[in-house]
Amino acid sequence: MDFYSQSLHYGFGVFEGIRSYKTESGQTKIFKATAHFDRLKRSAEALNMPYKWTTDELIEATYEVLRQSDLQDAYIRPLIYAPANMTFSTNTESFIVIEAWKMQPFLGDNLLQVMTSSFQRPNPKGFKIEAKATGHYVNSILASQEAKAAGFNEALLLDINDYVAEAPGANVFVECNNILYTPKAGNILSGITRATVLELCNELDFEVVEKNIVLEEVHGADSAFFCGTAAEIIGIEALDKVEFTKPWAETMGAVIQKAYKNLVVEKAYSTQLETA
Ligand code: PMP
Repeated sequence: MDFYSQSLHYGFGVFEGIRSYKTESGQTKIFKATAHFDRLKRSAEALNMPYKWTTDELIEATYEVLRQSDLQDAYIRPLIYAPANMTFSTNTESFIVIEAWKMQPFLGDNLLQVMTSSFQRPNPKGFKIEAKATGHYVNSILASQEAKAAGFNEALLLDINDYVAEAPGANVFVECNNILYTPKAGNILSGITRATVLELCNELDFEVVEKNIVLEEVHGADSAFFCGTAAEIIGIEALDKVEFTKPWAETMGAVIQKAYKNLVVEKAYSTQLETA
């Protein structure tokens, strides 16, 4: 990258976070590859960044990166960046790099201690928040650093209207009286994993509602979890030291976690309600 790149100086770039898995058959499979590369294109278009690639050719190129790096279970990061341009003008070209590496679950495997952030998610009237733009992650990093400095594992951010939004790099679901709730789209990055969870709820016959959620509803809830490509499905032990009441193993989130783990490796999964 050029040291005068608009992406480096102004955070004007877009990227994706994708995972590949070694499936049951032994083959490497990029999970939801089309959805991720289609979102990469939409993100670039949202920022008026020229985008000359097709989803198919990028998927093929990514499999080649995995082959050459000898990776099966990998985290994959395509990044679209701008050329040298110290002004705020639109560029006539963009560049792409595809990186891949081995990565453990982003937020670990243990239940999380989460803190409500003092940082709000970016204002949708100030940013194209449905785009996965590099500059948006200043907000994510500040929130995550604040939570970790205060002894928590991760942050939960509210939106500009003080409704529950999302984690710095994941979406959130809350269980209350056998119903799952998740913030509706509009003020969040409505993730590909979130969409997968909604699909799994449908298959599992779990009731799920997308709505505006206030913090008090989360503090009084039975359980909650974060979901994202990097984090996968990870349970939350407490929010602001207020513990969720249901043991994780008995929650709807635990069932979804198991179903998700099976789905990504293409392992058959019974949609019978299981709780272990
Ligand atoms: N919200 C934010 C702010 C994120 O950075 C991510 C990770 N891309 C998500 C939600 C989850 O999105 P996905 O499930 O598509 O990875």
